[in-house]
Amino acid sequence: MSETYSAMVCETVGAPLASRRRPWPRVKQPTDVVIEVCACGVCRTDLHVVDGDLPRRAPSIVPGHEVVGRVAEVGPAIETLRPGMRVGAAWLGLACGVCPFCRRGEENLCPYAEFHGWSRDGGYAEQMIADGRFLFTLPEGPDDAHFAPLLCAGLIGYRALRMAGDSERIGLYGFGAAAHIVAQVARWQGRRLHAFTRVGDEAARTLALRLGCVSAQGSDEKPPEELDAAILFAPVGSLAPLALKAVRPGGIVVCAGIHMSDIPSFPYELLWGERMVRSVANLTRRDGEEFLALAPKAAVTTMVETFPLADANLALDRLRAGEISGAAVLQVKKPR
Ligand SMILES: [Zn+2]
Ligand SMILES: [Zn+2]
Repeated sequence: MSETYSAMVCETVGAPLASRRRPWPRVKQPTDVVIEVCACGVCRTDLHVVDGDLPRRAPSIVPGHEVVGRVAEVGPAIETLRPGMRVGAAWLGLACGVCPFCRRGEENLCPYAEFHGWSRDGGYAEQMIADGRFLFTLPEGPDDAHFAPLLCAGLIGYRALRMAGDSERIGLYGFGAAAHIVAQVARWQGRRLHAFTRVGDEAARTLALRLGCVSAQGSDEKPPEELDAAILFAPVGSLAPLALKAVRPGGIVVCAGIHMSDIPSFPYELLWGERMVRSVANLTRRDGEEFLALAPKAAVTTMVETFPLADANLALDRLRAGEISGAAVLQVKKPR
């Protein structure tokens, strides 16, 4: 066991992550769990953290909230985990448990919540500490790198899909990590999907059609049929009025990202007819349990491009440039 471990750290907003060696972490709080990170997905939210679109929550931070790892050490208050178990850490790192939101089962809205890779160090590292009450026990099955994107892209995508209710015809705006997972779940549920991609992004369109979307077009184009709902995965505010235009009266537009550029003003006519626009914030542990149980039934598979931990900056750059097909993942530990 080495005395130190590697971490990629966001020290200055807008600058590349710095590679640092840190002393091996130990359990400090009774609910702490030390995790040996095996793989960590690279999510658009990580870009919002390192680029400063989201306000800083810690002086320096290790990004990463799609963490698949093995338990190394368990605090005395956590009875459900043992060393060696395979666990997942997602975006929600802690919620207070006593505020009105938590008591209503809306821990995703807890004002005291903490988040992996934003206010607590995340998985762009060989080791991390998490609160054991907010970890998911993962089944064996897909390897670590293919599992990782399920923990945010999959999970938040699933929450967004649930907000679309029983809509049959759904538009997916932005066809990256989240949409490529949600498309598989929605198809399995028997829905009809239309993909909207960045203009000229042939790779995303091909992927969308391969995953069973009925159509795939540029986000500036009209869908071939009216939509019951639209889910916006791309963080582009100008898509909101376009999506409203594409949904039927009573339809819903779900904004799934934690950050979005400003939504331009639009005529009331687009909202008229009881159309709705809503956001999806974070996740609850219940979302995670439901989705992780559903994913194998829907035979969800992820398409990943892996990078070594030391290449985290390259992975972020490729994601920022829209060059990742499917999901980018840091392969922290060699697959066993
Ligand atoms: Zn709370
Ligand atoms: Zn994420």
